[in-house]
Amino acid sequence: MYKKNLSKYADLAVKIGIGVKKGQTVIVKAPINTFDLTREVTKKCYEVGAKDVIVEYSDEEINHQRLLNSPDEVIKDYPKWKIDGLMNYIKEGAAIINIVSSNPDLMSDVAPNRLAIQNKAISQAAKEYREYILGGKVHWTIIAYPNESWATKVFPGSSPDEAVEKLWDNIFKATRVDHEDPVKAWEVHINNLNERLKFLNEKSFKKLIYTAPGTNLEVELPQGHIWIGGSQTSSNGDKFLPNLPTEEVFTVPKKTGVNGTLRSTKPLNYKSSLIDNFEFTFKDGKIVDFKAETGYETLKNLIETDEGSHFLGEIALVPHNSPISNTNIIFYNTLYDENASCHFAIGSAYLLCIENASRLTEEDKKRIGINSSLTHVDFMVGSAKLNILGITNSGEEIQVFKDGNWAF
Ligand code: ZN
Ligand code: ZN
Repeated sequence: MYKKNLSKYADLAVKIGIGVKKGQTVIVKAPINTFDLTREVTKKCYEVGAKDVIVEYSDEEINHQRLLNSPDEVIKDYPKWKIDGLMNYIKEGAAIINIVSSNPDLMSDVAPNRLAIQNKAISQAAKEYREYILGGKVHWTIIAYPNESWATKVFPGSSPDEAVEKLWDNIFKATRVDHEDPVKAWEVHINNLNERLKFLNEKSFKKLIYTAPGTNLEVELPQGHIWIGGSQTSSNGDKFLPNLPTEEVFTVPKKTGVNGTLRSTKPLNYKSSLIDNFEFTFKDGKIVDFKAETGYETLKNLIETDEGSHFLGEIALVPHNSPISNTNIIFYNTLYDENASCHFAIGSAYLLCIENASRLTEEDKKRIGINSSLTHVDFMVGSAKLNILGITNSGEEIQVFKDGNWAF
């Protein structure tokens, strides 16, 4: 059964995730423990006509040891050739499948400032790469793969073997791999998301007002914002699905138009370090105060990455009643948790969410209120108690979310 599901999962990543084209090169970024899936993905890529499959294996334990032992100058200096190597393929049209399988607690013994130094170095080295991702200039998708540390964190009462099996089970459910024809199921789901997008884009709300326990927030949306979700259309007009699974529709908030308080509803696993029960106060878009019961220092480091990390770059809607949310599991993994819950992101905005973004100058972006930053980190705010009211440009009020779900 596992083998059959793994094969369907790989198929989904190749066909719906990046939509591999004949003659295309595919880069697979894969942790070493994922080799059975990685080999299956490779096989599927060649089956649909890929020219070459470049697998880049990694091992987070090696990086963990580096972070514990190397001097600062080593972690401050991310090897640019690594990014350049990838960029050469990407510029020639390669697509990327990113398999993630993180141990959520691995880095808990690393000093937060060491992690911050490395993250900043990676972000700086990957500037062009990020522009390709944010600008829709490359087809990419992320899929997850369980490991014992992750699975036992999600299912603390189970043995490692049982926990991994349960996590796979839930991953196969959330990615609709348990359907007879997952590719078909995703086509239907993507159509449903498109209906929501159509409504939100027609209304083109001026403002959304969030209310929930600990949350009372006004979020202005910039002129020319576009709601996107499900599949994305790349700059060459093809469709791809960046996140597998995905349940969200999202756009950009106006950088300087966020005011009030906002409380998290799920823990945030940031670069293998946990932040929990946190809240923000915003004034004219800027985080002017914040608290965290767990991981205050990590949150502080994240917010202080640069100027842009004091502002929001994404606003996303996910119904409380949806497949991942209904598992009632905290996955300690953003790919899953963000698709279980309404969320925002600290940091960089997706330019795809703004009309004619490629033609905007830095001045334009500033005027419209599009945030940029070295970082982009999602955090969850959805619950059965969340209500969202939309205000249109003509002042009409329309309930968007009621008790955690779509109100229309
Ligand atoms: Zn999101
Ligand atoms: Zn995001």
